[in-house]
Amino acid sequence: MQSILILGAGPAGAAVALGLRRLGYPVTLISDWRRFPALEGVSQRVLQALHDAGLAAALTQALQPSQRRVGWNGHEHAQNIEYLVDRPTFDQGLRLALCDAGVRLIEGRVLALQSTAHGHSVQVAGHPPLHAEFLVEARGRQAPALDKSLREEAGSGQRGPETLSLLNRWQGATGQAASAVHSLEDGWAWMARRADGQCYWQLTLDVASAQLPGKAQLLEYCRQRRLASAQARDFFGAAPEQALQLHARSSTAILSPQVCGGNWLRVGDAAMAVDPLSGNGIFQSLSSALQAPAVINTLLQCPQHTALAQQFHRQRVQQLFLRFARIGRDFYADEQRWPEQPFWQARRHWPDAQPAHQTADFSALRIERAPVLRDGLVDEAEVVITPDQPLGIWHVQGVELAPLLRRLQQQGPEQALADLNPQQDRAVRGWLLGQGYRP
Ligand code: FAD
Repeated sequence: MQSILILGAGPAGAAVALGLRRLGYPVTLISDWRRFPALEGVSQRVLQALHDAGLAAALTQALQPSQRRVGWNGHEHAQNIEYLVDRPTFDQGLRLALCDAGVRLIEGRVLALQSTAHGHSVQVAGHPPLHAEFLVEARGRQAPALDKSLREEAGSGQRGPETLSLLNRWQGATGQAASAVHSLEDGWAWMARRADGQCYWQLTLDVASAQLPGKAQLLEYCRQRRLASAQARDFFGAAPEQALQLHARSSTAILSPQVCGGNWLRVGDAAMAVDPLSGNGIFQSLSSALQAPAVINTLLQCPQHTALAQQFHRQRVQQLFLRFARIGRDFYADEQRWPEQPFWQARRHWPDAQPAHQTADFSALRIERAPVLRDGLVDEAEVVITPDQPLGIWHVQGVELAPLLRRLQQQGPEQALADLNPQQDRAVRGWLLGQGYRP
């Protein structure tokens, strides 16, 4: 069996490794430890996706539910529950899950990677060189740009407005876990407090227009901005701050120009990294990772389907990236107090003017052959293309939609849906109504 090497043990690398183990592949994963303690907010949907990826156990020690408050465009409201994920604890949990699944884990920093069409050589600090026939790049935003020799065709990457997030962390008073996000004239701030009093304040700014001091003054700059913010004073209270730290990182939305080749694949943030405003980074990184094992399996076992498998991975990554970019754009456009400020001006029109969701139109549905996932491989099947799902939908509740659509175009719904069991009937009727079907 061919050797597979994964670089990076974040949620994306871990999900690919577990998926490949389920398909029976031996997997080696190389990763460095996360270098700074971060707290991230995720929704119930992310917990479900982590559960589906076999990573639920990694969350048990890392999670705290909190009521999230949102202050946007001058309005304040309590949003749904957000779950605060302590990333070092979560990442440690991911590693335990990998070891339990029989993944060979090498802890160390990747110093150099050399790739050709025949294989990959990796130099890891403190370890002898490693070689593999297939490589999965999952080093998140730190993943280097792709080696020129591997660019098989010109890709169309994308970059959103350059964005920087400055995270302040300190020890405050203990209390109830809470989180909040609010807009500012030159960006937005996310605030969170864990029950043990660990406090996080993250300021996100536009790189081109922010007038930041030098590195040495950045911590004090953030502190002063926080102390000057009524929302932050209200949220954190007046307890003294201890062990104040700063961590700066880029949070620009980036779509990699290429996400797969004949013997490599990029997943997670290495393939596409989204604006953290969405709170969807982990979800997105899982989306590209969950499909990856079947894509890799196809590249290794069914060379005749190489182009199909690559098309599947590439199109899904691109579509997901654009969809979340447009949702983010609309959220930025909802803030209307400072439309001329550079931060808001740059973000309310990117990536384009297309709506995030297309209006349902039953008459626009059409049938096409497209790549789908079948039995751990990428295969081709007839799918139904809708205005909102340009890559097509294969089935709903186990019912293939293409033959069903043909039947509906020829017969009435009672006849066309006659063979479905009650559960399928309910799901398919719901889907049809959502497509604008009005018999
Ligand atoms: P990562 O989680 O980044 O994992 C990459 C792994 O590769 C790490 O373990 C790293 O140590 C390792 N690595 C990197 N370089 C090397 C190397 N040279 N050698 C060896 N190992 C290496 N998402 C949310 O869902 N909610 C949030 O609230 C949220 N807030 C965010 C705030 C900011 C400012 C940013 C930038 C991102 C935020 N995200 C958030 C996004 C989230 O962090 C990522 O989308 C997610 O972690 C991506 O997972 P990944 O597995 O692709 O990469």
